[in-house]
Amino acid sequence: MRDRQPAICLRVSDYSETSQVVAFLTRTAGVVRLLAKGTKRAKSKSGGAIDLLSEGDLVFTLGRSGSLGTLVEFTETVSHTPLRRQAVRLNAGLYLIELAGEMLAQDDPHPEVFDLLHNALARLAQEGAPISAVVAYFQWRLLRHVGLLGGLDECVGCGKALTSPGRQGAWFSSSMGGMLCRACATGPVGRVRVDGKTMAALAALAAAESGKKAALPDDQAERVNGLLSYHITYQLGKPLKLAKHVIARKKM
Ligand SMILES: [Zn+2]
Repeated sequence: MRDRQPAICLRVSDYSETSQVVAFLTRTAGVVRLLAKGTKRAKSKSGGAIDLLSEGDLVFTLGRSGSLGTLVEFTETVSHTPLRRQAVRLNAGLYLIELAGEMLAQDDPHPEVFDLLHNALARLAQEGAPISAVVAYFQWRLLRHVGLLGGLDECVGCGKALTSPGRQGAWFSSSMGGMLCRACATGPVGRVRVDGKTMAALAALAAAESGKKAALPDDQAERVNGLLSYHITYQLGKPLKLAKHVIARKKM
């Protein structure tokens, strides 16, 4: 059955001289993998090869469970030229689509994630956009959406509250599934130190999520990005390819 969806290109590979295999995040049909015949011809309906981050109106048919579907037509409706012009923005955008592609299963609808990604890419394209904060918010919301954010408000070991201001920070353990207080952060458990600035960043992200206006300065955003990226690497069992260009690990 033919479907028509707003869609963002997450992954692309060559299939033949003229065709591509493209994974799109669609708004309500989730991630779909499609054979895009003839798209690499200059005179194709898509106006040439489809690139990562391409966003537009997608017409497609789905294959049988898990197999390749077919791209019928793709028309770019959002120009990501401003995003592509500067390496730091482009890398951030590519990091977000790589993350979405790794975290979301195929054919599973995630309209919230589509909207989140659409908004984040639009924001990254704006002059003077706070790139680290955009990446931080996207990572936070995506992890929350897929249920992998972990417990952040209290120690997952003993239940002690950790978010009150002025605390000396804590530890975060992906294998334990959240924050650990000083007393519980012992033994051979993999964990990273969460300092006061990172705690402040986590509080700002929680506030922003509940609709409050919350500032996230660059140094806080970079710290929390380091933490969330560590957590994502653990969850996926590998680092994201773009992480080394986007995440400033040493600042965590
Ligand atoms: Zn504890």
